[in-house]
Amino acid sequence: MGPAYDVLVVGAGCAGMRAAIEAHDRGARVAVISKLHPTRSHSGAAEGGINAALGNTAEDSPEKHAFDTVKGSDYLGDQDAIEIFTAEAPGDIYQLEHWGCVFSRNDEGRLAQRPFGAAGSPRTVYAADITGHVLIQVLYEQLQKRMAEGLVVFEESFAFRLVEEDGRCTGVVCWDLLRGGVQVITGSAVILATGGAGRLFRATTNAYACTGDGMAMALRLGLPLKDMEFMQFHPTTMYPSGILITEGCRGEGGYLLNKEGERFMKRYAPNALELASRDVVSRSETTEIEAGRGINGSVMLDLRHLGAEKILNRLPGSRELAMTYAGVDPIYEPIPVRPGAHYHMGGVSCDNWGLTPLEGLYAAGEVACVSVHGANRLGGNSLMETITFGRRAGQAAAEYAVASPASANGHAEAARADAEAWVKGLLGVTEGERPWQIRDELGQSMLDNFGVFRRAEKMEAQEEIVAGLRERYARGVVIEDKGDVFNSDLTQAIELGYLLDVAACMLQAGIARKESRGAHSRPYDFPDRDDERFLKHSISTWRDGAPELSYQEVRMTQWEPMERTY
Ligand SMILES: Cc1cc2nc3c(=O)[nH]c(=O)nc-3n(C[C@H](O)[C@H](O)[C@H](O)COP(=O)(O)OP(=O)(O)OC[C@H]3O[C@@H](n4cnc5c(N)ncnc54)[C@H](O)[C@@H]3O)c2cc1C
Repeated sequence: MGPAYDVLVVGAGCAGMRAAIEAHDRGARVAVISKLHPTRSHSGAAEGGINAALGNTAEDSPEKHAFDTVKGSDYLGDQDAIEIFTAEAPGDIYQLEHWGCVFSRNDEGRLAQRPFGAAGSPRTVYAADITGHVLIQVLYEQLQKRMAEGLVVFEESFAFRLVEEDGRCTGVVCWDLLRGGVQVITGSAVILATGGAGRLFRATTNAYACTGDGMAMALRLGLPLKDMEFMQFHPTTMYPSGILITEGCRGEGGYLLNKEGERFMKRYAPNALELASRDVVSRSETTEIEAGRGINGSVMLDLRHLGAEKILNRLPGSRELAMTYAGVDPIYEPIPVRPGAHYHMGGVSCDNWGLTPLEGLYAAGEVACVSVHGANRLGGNSLMETITFGRRAGQAAAEYAVASPASANGHAEAARADAEAWVKGLLGVTEGERPWQIRDELGQSMLDNFGVFRRAEKMEAQEEIVAGLRERYARGVVIEDKGDVFNSDLTQAIELGYLLDVAACMLQAGIARKESRGAHSRPYDFPDRDDERFLKHSISTWRDGAPELSYQEVRMTQWEPMERTY
């Protein structure tokens, strides 16, 4: 018997839904698998906007957008991928608009565009400061329309393994969160769109669901992960909750102040100031805080001079978040902020159509590393990547699956039996520690030892800590809930295993990268970028239960690395 579907999409955030829509429209029988209801996916939390060179506010072009992205990536982005990205982005924005995205408009009635960090022109399209919410609702409407035409959504279904048969990916093993029990869903192609892994760090903007599941599933199948050491720290996450305050606040003119009331970015980035790239602003803030010029481990984001009208019109969500979670109204008081783990530039290595080295397996969105963002992502480029590369992965997977359907799924039954025995084993552990103990230690120690600034001895200590945590995890953790319905105790224990594997890859790659590039900053031993030795991607592959490191050339088209100026 052939597979149940042509294309399976694991994940229903912006990348997954965009991929599923495209695959369906190209004639594939599509099923979407998501551990959350689609509209609860983390993409919905995105605030500030989405980048495309429309040129509505000032002159702009895809070439300028590409150059800014290459420079922002600290030259680690693959330039052919970046050129495709910036050339196709405007068309994708207009399509979203035609589908019903209520983007904010300028006085001429065109789509408004705001300045974002390290962008040479105001090119961030936005819907006030709830851009992700608007995108996810519109994509879900489009998905629902196609559900009436046969597209299937397995929502609240937790994927935990990929099925490989004769060198091809032919299915996904899931745990049914609603009813309990293992399901094997078969397909001729699979697209991973499971998002990032920010939950590796205690201070993060990422939701509880961002646990690197897709990266770890691919890794365990022998697939390479790329540039895993690069975790972006966003400069304005609120103290103490870690909730994001969008870069749009600085785009609209917000200042960063230290405890002396000084606008300290004048010293670190005299030209770009608060709109320098995120790695630069996060490092500047951390330097201020470590030098004792912070307040409670934070600096202040001051919007007061923007005036009530602008704050209420352009940044209403940020104001509400600040009032609810920091107890300050930004119309009258500055918001305490500090850097927090935000976006993983690394991910499953794939080509410009999302294809991984395993036939039939594709990746798109934050789980993937194409690589558009290299060592540092520009604000607004991630949402755009989910849409443009989600669409491309959907197209490529559909064309492949329809042209070469998988002939058999002989492995599905064996995969089910194996997975059922494995889950039974997990639930059978009665003595040992609870998973959250390991998870808390992992999150705190990653923040302490692998944060904004990286020191060799701390990274090495962290590698040992993670090895120890992995050993403790392997000895067995106790899942107290033995039930079938919404057993989040079980799924969180599985997610912890993913986080530990991903952390091991990040540390190995970080220790070996003896330079400072983008989000990987080693000011104490290797303060400079070293293009001679490290203008290359780190590749992490799983061998005998541990990561193995190798390197891959960066694809360059027209931009040679230049000195960074701020
Ligand atoms: C607070 C915040 C604000 C941001 N603001 C911006 C912004 O303004 N502009 C910008 O460009 N970028 C922004 N970003 C980044 C951007 O939002 C994300 O990188 C992007 O939305 C990720 O989309 P995704 O579709 O790849 O993943 P997600 O939206 O995280 O979706 C992942 C999906 O995978 C599913 N999933 C995960 N694991 C499993 C599993 N094991 N089984 C089944 N399903 C699974 C989840 O249910 C979910 O549906 C922001 C990020 C954060 C955290």
